[in-house]
Amino acid sequence: MITKEPRLRVGIMEGKAGISGCLNGNFRSPQYPGQHFSGNFSIHSLGGEILLTAAKGGGIVTRSSLSLLSEDQATFSLQDVTIGVAFHWERQEAQTFAGNLRILALGDGTLTAINDIALEDYLSSVISSEMSASAPMALLKAHAVISRSWLVTMLKRGPAPSRTSPPSSSGNEHIVWYGREEHQMFDVCADDHCQRYQGLTRSIPERTAAAINITRGVFLVYGDAVCDARYYKCCGGRTETFENTWEEIPHPYLTSVADAAVDSPPILDEEAAQRWLLSSPEAWCNTRDEKLLAEILPSFDQETKDFFRWQVAYDQDELGEILKEKSGIDFGRVQDLIPLERGPSGRIVRLKIVGTKTSIVVGKELEIRRWLSRSHLYSSAFVVEAQRDPSGTDCRFVLHGGGWGHGVGLCQIGAAVMASQGISAEVILKHYFRGASLKKLY
Ligand SMILES: [Zn+2]
Ligand SMILES: [Zn+2]
Repeated sequence: MITKEPRLRVGIMEGKAGISGCLNGNFRSPQYPGQHFSGNFSIHSLGGEILLTAAKGGGIVTRSSLSLLSEDQATFSLQDVTIGVAFHWERQEAQTFAGNLRILALGDGTLTAINDIALEDYLSSVISSEMSASAPMALLKAHAVISRSWLVTMLKRGPAPSRTSPPSSSGNEHIVWYGREEHQMFDVCADDHCQRYQGLTRSIPERTAAAINITRGVFLVYGDAVCDARYYKCCGGRTETFENTWEEIPHPYLTSVADAAVDSPPILDEEAAQRWLLSSPEAWCNTRDEKLLAEILPSFDQETKDFFRWQVAYDQDELGEILKEKSGIDFGRVQDLIPLERGPSGRIVRLKIVGTKTSIVVGKELEIRRWLSRSHLYSSAFVVEAQRDPSGTDCRFVLHGGGWGHGVGLCQIGAAVMASQGISAEVILKHYFRGASLKKLY
């Protein structure tokens, strides 16, 4: 296990012909000892060389990589940073960062901007983007611990194939899970793909900073390893196992638990799934407390209100079109959707799609969510109601679902409700991650 605070390489921009911004204080470059740079700057790539022009410090040229090291905690701002890549909230804005700036010039003439920063400083920014600062303190602390643990696990895992290859992918079975897309030149990107990181652009609220400080260096551990601490918005009443979602490696601390004070049985068959998903069982995350949700969720996430139980309906033609667009497969008219395998949370692991032209089994949860929606279904925990017309020619499919996200690890809304009822961060974490404990590693 680690013994000191790691430093992170956070990718801020890629594929740029030029980068401009402002050095808000003095920076130095190891390549130009004794020289200081500050004020507005622009950087261009010229035949593999990097050309820096700064208001103070002038123009310099380096080969392939330029480091600008912050002195006296000076910050830097970059223009036109893209956030929310490929999501409906995509936009460009100026952003400000602590730590060092590193620019790489690639062979294709583009520039990459990287922020080198200590883990705890990075976390302050991430937690304030993921969670509203008005969230209960125990939730902020629990989130600091899991974000820190997830990150260190990911760093240790190192480079891996960009997508985990399908364990079985034949003509009529398509079972895929998605690993994290790895980045070649840095550890994490600054966008939703990894964790939302906007540096110091949004001021980091005092309570968030306090939650990071109090838990500094504290990790969730199991045996002699830091836990791969996963999280998502809402489990739907019961959490899911790791192996039903990703590769077949059981993680003893990522089992299925009831997200409630009282236990309930796991979903073992279709009858149980019907009973579970068509009802509104007692669960920590079964809340309509708008005041609490407003306290914990960033504003754009508050637009989603039906996360615990939801419905989506398609007619046959519409579903066929979506499937063709998302999977590239022409099913013809969709005749049936048959769950073949579910996890204990009710999430479908393998779903058979029966069409007039072809029938295919699809899995795992993320691929099912991707195929059956123009964006993504909230989760793969759903039961199918096929409303057939008396002649049997037309059919409308209503999906009755529960939960938002993969369901493995900590349920953010459940944890928030627990925290609002005075339950401590440690008890919350031990509820979702069975057998794990907290350990201060630096
Ligand atoms: Zn990323
Ligand atoms: Zn939950």
